[in-house]
Amino acid sequence: MNEGANARCARHPDLAASFTCPRCGSFACVDCERRASLDAAPVCPACWAVNRQATAAPSGALQTAGLVVGVLSLFPCCPLALASLALNIIALVKSTRENRWKPIVGLSITILVSVLQVLFVGFYQIFSKR
Ligand SMILES: [Zn+2]
Ligand SMILES: [Zn+2]
Repeated sequence: MNEGANARCARHPDLAASFTCPRCGSFACVDCERRASLDAAPVCPACWAVNRQATAAPSGALQTAGLVVGVLSLFPCCPLALASLALNIIALVKSTRENRWKPIVGLSITILVSVLQVLFVGFYQIFSKR
């Protein structure tokens, strides 16, 4: 007796299973196949949802916020530059490889703006003394 041939989909009891989920080992039918790419091994819908949640968990909201505040610090406002500096450093530490560029860009903008502001203030004071 071949068990695999008689296996039914865990979600569709009326359909024959076409594969076994490599993650949880449950049977699933063609309709339930979920693949990350065409040549990837299919997983069941439950594991697919878990996988997606796991990869979507670090949503990058912190990194995006860092980038936004970094861009906002382009406008002369010292407290914002300080907040951007702190936010981007935290975002950089907590970032994944994919969204690391955001806090790096935010941090770069903030540092650049801060240096420019210091230079402008310095020049202003030099010239105003004359
Ligand atoms: Zn599964
Ligand atoms: Zn199914």
